[in-house]
Amino acid sequence: MIRAAELIERKRDGDELGADELRELVLEYTADRVPDYQMAAFLMAVYFRGLSGAETFAFTDAMIASGETIDLGAALGRRCVDKHSTGGVGDKTSIAVGPIVAACGVPFGKMSGRGLGHTGGTLDKLEAIPGYRIELTTEEFVAQVREFGLAIIGQSANLVPADKRLYALRDVTATVDNISLIAASIMSKKLAGGADAIVLDVKVGDGAFMKTLDDGRALAEAMIELGRRAGREVVCMLTDMDQPLGRAVGNALELREALATLRGEGPPDFQELVLASVAHLLALSDLGIDEAEGRKRAEQSVADGSAVAAYERWIEAQDGDPDEAALPRAAVVREVKAPGAGVVERLGAIQIGVAALHLGAGRQTKDDEIDHAVGVVCLKKRGDEVAAGDVLAEIHARDDGSAAEAEAAILAAYELGDEGPRERKIVLDVIS
Ligand code: URA
Repeated sequence: MIRAAELIERKRDGDELGADELRELVLEYTADRVPDYQMAAFLMAVYFRGLSGAETFAFTDAMIASGETIDLGAALGRRCVDKHSTGGVGDKTSIAVGPIVAACGVPFGKMSGRGLGHTGGTLDKLEAIPGYRIELTTEEFVAQVREFGLAIIGQSANLVPADKRLYALRDVTATVDNISLIAASIMSKKLAGGADAIVLDVKVGDGAFMKTLDDGRALAEAMIELGRRAGREVVCMLTDMDQPLGRAVGNALELREALATLRGEGPPDFQELVLASVAHLLALSDLGIDEAEGRKRAEQSVADGSAVAAYERWIEAQDGDPDEAALPRAAVVREVKAPGAGVVERLGAIQIGVAALHLGAGRQTKDDEIDHAVGVVCLKKRGDEVAAGDVLAEIHARDDGSAAEAEAAILAAYELGDEGPRERKIVLDVIS
């Protein structure tokens, strides 16, 4: 019989717990033999005391053991790569990265999540595509990656069930914000998904979990260490989330932007992040090439149309309509004009994310329905010069009332000044 109270007390007092103790706690909790109130107290003790590297790995390993795992590499007979982003505003990276990786001859099978709060989830974006099926059986998933080189699906209920329970509990007990717990949560899902090598995009800034580069680095290092202990290669990109990524925020709008990027017509920051991510993924794959060659091949697949062709094959394989014209459009499009002249000093990612959320692009509670057509397109971004009356952004809304509300919020997200901001690149650092 597990003595949960004793483990809580020891963690509260700063003891290091053994791997067996942590495993039992996580597995007994997932089996409903440890109640939520004890697990909540334990998580709060971890929040204040932290977990050592060995404890974080044991906690992660126990979470993986709570469900099934997939060995995509063994099923395909190839080394498999995967990517994950810690989440932000306007982050449609996987939708553009997947087809480019597939076009370069590397299989890409990914399980993605939904958004909550001001961050959007890849699955919600893909559901803007009429007919797109996010639920495939494991056999269908593997078969599709084998045949088409690409599948993106929802995370199966049996993969890391402990994370679903723990994340929901953390969400309502103010214990999300802990580096060990975030690292364990993210890496348990990536390791259970079977990738041999993983590129992690740790977002840093106003619109991200990690507000500072130092916190981003600490999370990246914790995840790299988990990868090392599990025998997987991990590369972490620290990337800017002080303003929305690209221009579009909102599901169908972001899909259009991902498609434009596959044609080489994406916004510069997003195009750069996509190509840099693909270059790292190809360098970690079984192609035996370095990052510079990976970048060249990624650019080539965009230039010769093979990236767009891979997108179309993928979407059709999952019963979706790949035609851009099939994506939903909002009834009302309203322009937000600059009240004066200046340079954009700041464009608040959270404020734009929340404006899109209130338009209906995201969920405020987990049962909310998403409106795939609505959102915001930020035509001016940090460092852009504007004249009075220039269009800063476009609001795509259901009706005039919600568009008017969004306009005030978007204007508040733009700070215009005289000098212009210090340059901040999209990729702030890369560590491995
Ligand atoms: N994303 C996750 O999957 N888990 C966390 O704990 C935080 C972000």
